[in-house]
Amino acid sequence: MEAMTRKPEAIARMLRDAQTIAICSHVNPDGDTLGSAAAMRLALKKLGKTVSLFCDGKVPDQLAFLPGIGEMSVPTGEEGPFDLMLAVDVSDEKRLGCCAKLLPQCRHTAQIDHHPTNPFFMEENSVDGDAPACCILIREQLAALGIEPDRDMAICLYTGISTDTGNFAFASTNADCFEIMSELMGKGLPLAELNRVLFRERAKPQVLLMGRALNSLQYYEGCRIAVMKLTRRDFDECGALSEHADTLVNFGLDTVGTRMAMLAREGGDGAIKFSLRAKEPDCVSDIAQEFGGGGHPQASGITMYGDLDETVSRVLDAMIRKLNG
Ligand code: 5GP
Ligand code: MN
Repeated sequence: MEAMTRKPEAIARMLRDAQTIAICSHVNPDGDTLGSAAAMRLALKKLGKTVSLFCDGKVPDQLAFLPGIGEMSVPTGEEGPFDLMLAVDVSDEKRLGCCAKLLPQCRHTAQIDHHPTNPFFMEENSVDGDAPACCILIREQLAALGIEPDRDMAICLYTGISTDTGNFAFASTNADCFEIMSELMGKGLPLAELNRVLFRERAKPQVLLMGRALNSLQYYEGCRIAVMKLTRRDFDECGALSEHADTLVNFGLDTVGTRMAMLAREGGDGAIKFSLRAKEPDCVSDIAQEFGGGGHPQASGITMYGDLDETVSRVLDAMIRKLNG
């Protein structure tokens, strides 16, 4: 297999040789894949290219501010032909979703990505599994194209770097992030305004649901285990969707002294969805597996069918056993 390496010069050659370019983001798009696509679009337009943006999924409202992201569409498969497809932040071909339909219509294919598991599914692969965000690699790609980032590109690059590093908080955050940030600030990046939109503002149903979740919070084994429950009624009365509960489990986990946290939410279809979290060195993936779920050591999930209280007490028992085992 090819060594995992950045290839900005090789990608720059392919981009220069192409006139029509389809940039593809991954399914369930996030700030990094959309920031990467939007920044590359702006740069390539400066080079006189005809650029199309594609993604299997809707741009989240929160990211609608990205310059030019309104051009993003879900491909029907009839859009081609294109000289080149460039995938950004797409860890494997499956993550292209329906954008894969465009592959046969693209004369050449290339990708820029930062997932260590990337199987090099394109013709040219510029992949660095140690980069904290794809947008870090996009900054280098702009340099290889001789493009200096402007304010709009700064907005795109900041969005990808800040969201993939948990607002410069994850262990992946490195000196490259701050070097690039220093440059982006010099381009007039509206940091405070974007930080509010990306990391502080929440939709009203989400704030209401947060209240319900905190109200349900119960601690066990001292406060080493934190449990929250959201019923169907909570979602309905808050006008909230399941996704509005996605990060709420962290309120339990972030309690001083808490080692494991659970959030159980009742779905419309009778499914109970569990989010389990742990602080290192504790682990919850084995507990999730015991109930047919899975995930990462410190962040796992389970889907079960049955009564909310009854299923919660079964998973809680397993957590207590694990903690005392
Ligand atoms: P979350 O709690 O954020 O929904 O999910 C955390 C992690 O657990 C994710 O990486 C996800 O892949 C995994 N996960 C969530 N729900 C399920 C599930 O029902 N089954 C399995 N096998 N994994 C899940
Ligand atoms: Mn990413």
